[in-house]
Amino acid sequence: MKAFQVRAPFEFGLAQVDMPQVAPGEVKVDVAYAGICGSDMHIIHGQNAFVRFPRVTGHEFSGVVREVGEGVESLKVGDRVCIDPVISCGTCYPCRINRPNVCTQLQVIGVHRDGGFSEQVCVPAENAHRLPDSMSLSHAALVEPYTIALNVLDRMQPHPGDSLLIYGAGVIGLTLVQMARALGMTDITVTDVLDTRLEAARALGASRTLNGKDVDVEATMRELTQGEGVPLIVDAACIPALMPQMVRLASPAGRIGLLGFNTVPSDLVQLEMIKKELTLVGSRLNNRKFPKVIELIASGKLQVRELISHRISFDEMPSAIDLIESHPEQTRKVLVELNGALQ
Ligand code: MN
Ligand code: ZN
Repeated sequence: MKAFQVRAPFEFGLAQVDMPQVAPGEVKVDVAYAGICGSDMHIIHGQNAFVRFPRVTGHEFSGVVREVGEGVESLKVGDRVCIDPVISCGTCYPCRINRPNVCTQLQVIGVHRDGGFSEQVCVPAENAHRLPDSMSLSHAALVEPYTIALNVLDRMQPHPGDSLLIYGAGVIGLTLVQMARALGMTDITVTDVLDTRLEAARALGASRTLNGKDVDVEATMRELTQGEGVPLIVDAACIPALMPQMVRLASPAGRIGLLGFNTVPSDLVQLEMIKKELTLVGSRLNNRKFPKVIELIASGKLQVRELISHRISFDEMPSAIDLIESHPEQTRKVLVELNGALQ
């Protein structure tokens, strides 16, 4: 069967690989749609320390169950599903306190084991979530990026009426805007340096956008909040140098959510953290957020279509990778269609 394989950093392409064998407790899925993510690009660039090569990447995907392994009762052949990429051990400390997404033995589908850019893939049955009839397989491939947004917002424990400042209006910034809206937030500011991205953020529900090239974000936010600062700040720009500004802009008792993978250190001033009793939270992948996101999409509360900039065939995937590299401003979510999306 055909799969998109990263053989080594910067060496990638479609390859013929062996059909996977379904193990007890697993299901084999015919993949329908798979989204290309920034973290797939990190793997291609050799910037993900967890990856062993060769690797079939892809952790945002949907499909149809083709075969069920021994002992699987929750799913049957023909079920339409999307896949939570988080596989945890269930016994380590984070698993015991219900934080399986930071399991000490964490296995991420598409990172630690082969993923969704493949005509077929085997996954633990408990990672495959059945879709409501009203939800398309193409939209189902975008559940995972929305779980990133829900996870970080959940970690920040929003109170009713809290205002939110989002750094970055890429795909994750845009899922954050929509998720914040769906959770009832109404005062949402987004900052970025690309006007096209900021227009998208406004169209999807941001109440205000600030282009950091044109305005002083810190002074503007300070003025808008009468000096109080912002209770909720998310870093979806993932630029370490922004951290001191976020800490200065957070209101007393504020919460800052971090999503970046950068290894460059950021400065923190103890006094600002302590004086305002700030909470800094990291957020990795998602902690059992698939059911809620599926429900939000099925009930029309998230504008999934607006996130998709390109739909391509599997054969076009290597050239799509080049497009994302060379024109990041032209791409949002690039969705790959596999198996002719099952006709
Ligand atoms: Mn992703
Ligand atoms: Zn564990």
